[in-house]
Amino acid sequence: MQTVAQKAGIDAEELTKTMKNYDQAVKMGKDEEFGRDPKFLHAYEGDTYYVIEQKLRFCTTLGGYETTAQMQLVDSDFTPIDSFYAAGEIIGGANGHDSMPSMMNSWSYASGFVAGTEAADNCNLK
Ligand SMILES: Cc1cc2nc3c(=O)[nH]c(=O)nc-3n(C[C@H](O)[C@H](O)[C@H](O)COP(=O)(O)OP(=O)(O)OC[C@H]3O[C@@H](n4cnc5c(N)ncnc54)[C@H](O)[C@@H]3O)c2cc1C
Repeated sequence: MQTVAQKAGIDAEELTKTMKNYDQAVKMGKDEEFGRDPKFLHAYEGDTYYVIEQKLRFCTTLGGYETTAQMQLVDSDFTPIDSFYAAGEIIGGANGHDSMPSMMNSWSYASGFVAGTEAADNCNLK
């Protein structure tokens, strides 16, 4: 652990403490620091450690605009807005707290297909 901490330029003492706390959480089946579900608390095996630097990635707002299942936009009271359809990555609440890795294009195309079809049908009906 000393070696990997040194290579990554992080405090070896803090890393050791972090690992000890984690081991303790695994043994107790309870993560008091982050409240992780016990089913994700797996003990480390072996004595080879890899350190991966993580950086903040999400600075976007993906909340977007809510729609019906037919991709018709709804207002703030969730009432469908007449003849107003929408598609794309920020539409329909497809993304929650996080984006859908590798699925944004699929959603954009699929929602576009539904919105376009519904809008065309809506024109035919009016
Ligand atoms: C770097 C990067 C990597 C990505 N990698 C992936 C990946 O691997 N897999 C994946 O699934 N998704 C990926 N995505 C996300 C995916 O590309 C987008 O979610 C998707 O393209 C969104 O489609 P969209 O139709 O909603 O919007 P867009 O593709 O952004 O289309 C919007 C269009 O509207 C046009 N437009 C904007 N304003 C106006 C206006 N006023 N008048 C007329 N036209 C206008 C724009 O020019 C644009 O053509 C990636 C995105 C980025 C930025």
